[in-house]
Amino acid sequence: MALDRFRKLADCLSEKHDSGCDCEAAYKQFECLAEQAVAGVDIHDILPRVAMHLDQCSDCREEYEALVAIVRAEREHHINE
Ligand SMILES: [Zn+2]
Repeated sequence: MALDRFRKLADCLSEKHDSGCDCEAAYKQFECLAEQAVAGVDIHDILPRVAMHLDQCSDCREEYEALVAIVRAEREHHINE
């Protein structure tokens, strides 16, 4: 799992380096962004650069959406308790 994630990031960095892909920087913000998104905040308002990157980079978007799903599930779990 961790290796797979690393490989995806490495692929993205090597393929899109010239077009301004900054997967590593974006990735560091995912956890914070996912929590904000689940809380109903528009991530374009808080971190527009990362949000734009997510729009353009399918690998990061996949990782990010998986994280949102996890955060949302945890949140619903807490509400149900
Ligand atoms: Zn990316």
